[in-house]
Amino acid sequence: MDFELSEEHRMIKDLVARFVRDELLPLEKAVLEREAAGQGWVLTPEERAPVDAKSKELGLWGLDAPEVFGGSDLPITAMVGVNEELGKTITPYTLPPDSPNLRMLMSTCNDEQKALYLEPYARGEKTSAIAISEPGAGGDPAGMTTRAVRDGDDWVLNGRKIWVSRVGYADFTIVMAVTDKSKGARGGISAFLVDRDTPGYNVLRRIPMLGGAYTYELTFEDCRIPASKLLGREGYGFAPMQLRLSTRRVQMAAWCTGMSQRALDMMIEYAPQRVTFGLPLSQRQAIQWWITEAATKIHACRLMTYDAAVKIDRGEEPRTEVAMIKVFGTEMAWETIDRAMQTFGGMGMTKEMPLQMMANRVRLMRIFEGPTEIHKMVIARRLIDKR
Ligand SMILES: Cc1cc2nc3c(=O)[nH]c(=O)nc-3n(C[C@H](O)[C@H](O)[C@H](O)COP(=O)(O)OP(=O)(O)OC[C@H]3O[C@@H](n4cnc5c(N)ncnc54)[C@H](O)[C@@H]3O)c2cc1C
Repeated sequence: MDFELSEEHRMIKDLVARFVRDELLPLEKAVLEREAAGQGWVLTPEERAPVDAKSKELGLWGLDAPEVFGGSDLPITAMVGVNEELGKTITPYTLPPDSPNLRMLMSTCNDEQKALYLEPYARGEKTSAIAISEPGAGGDPAGMTTRAVRDGDDWVLNGRKIWVSRVGYADFTIVMAVTDKSKGARGGISAFLVDRDTPGYNVLRRIPMLGGAYTYELTFEDCRIPASKLLGREGYGFAPMQLRLSTRRVQMAAWCTGMSQRALDMMIEYAPQRVTFGLPLSQRQAIQWWITEAATKIHACRLMTYDAAVKIDRGEEPRTEVAMIKVFGTEMAWETIDRAMQTFGGMGMTKEMPLQMMANRVRLMRIFEGPTEIHKMVIARRLIDKR
């Protein structure tokens, strides 16, 4: 068994590491100050423009997008390395295009939709959101009630969505809605492409989340869209949505590996310098064990994430492994970052250090793309069913 990245994929990972070091880490101070001042976890347009230009110049756009749209068509395995490096900074930056919706669009778009949505999205010219969760159905999306009813050449959407990310700047939103109530998730839920200026698509409010993040609440009131905006087959939106969720979960596990590695590196750097009661922290068993446990779990998380990615690249659907890394990665990062914060004492509690921002990010990650407890239920169910 070979646990090494190929030469080409290692070079891409190293390139992203240099991009993070040279372009994103220098922005952290400004990002932290802005968030501490209550102005959100964001980059200003003036900060974003040169970063976009640099990442494009380095060939880092469209890494996993199809070659016909100017992408590099990299496998998920290569993207694990890319995302591990991106996870090492708290500067909010996504290399265009964001992979999860890309995968969903690639598996569903017809020719017309490819030209209107997939191609500009893959080229980084359009951005998107996805609206699945509702006030009454989040962790259990099969219980959604937003309806789409066919009316002549149109679909008419009615319902409410909540906690939707990226709505503030998304050009279009993939909206999941019930098209046949009697069939539920097995043939009764469809996906639709809704442009941001469509009448009846209402952004109700922007919801402040931990760490300066935002989500949005939306309503659809007789929101009429042409039949051509149905994404994929009517009633069969759940499977491509799952593919999308799996892509994000693998990405999140890689981010958690990167984030935890940075927290561990900070602990290792600081512990020998700080003397308490006549000895450096690095000579205290409590701190040594935190370092050992973090290093061991980071190693495990990295290998588990590559294992899931290799299986996806082989065309398998390793849903159990993906659920495992979603749980293991986020919980491991939560513990590691918390221990790094503890090691730094009062300094670890300041908003001047990236650790609290990393903790906030991971805290959110323990909820989105499915809370830990629900993934544990899914893993147990699949193991028991297999028996
Ligand atoms: C930062 C952020 C960004 C998000 N972005 C999006 C987005 O872009 N689009 C979108 O559609 N949604 C988004 N979400 C919503 C997210 O996917 C849901 O919040 C999540 O799936 C949980 O749903 P819920 O909030 O309804 O919690 P619930 O389903 O009500 O669950 C609440 C808690 O109950 C427990 N629980 C629930 N079911 C079980 C069970 N079967 N067994 C054991 N315990 C259980 C868990 O501890 C869980 O945390 C986002 C959420 C956050 C926090």
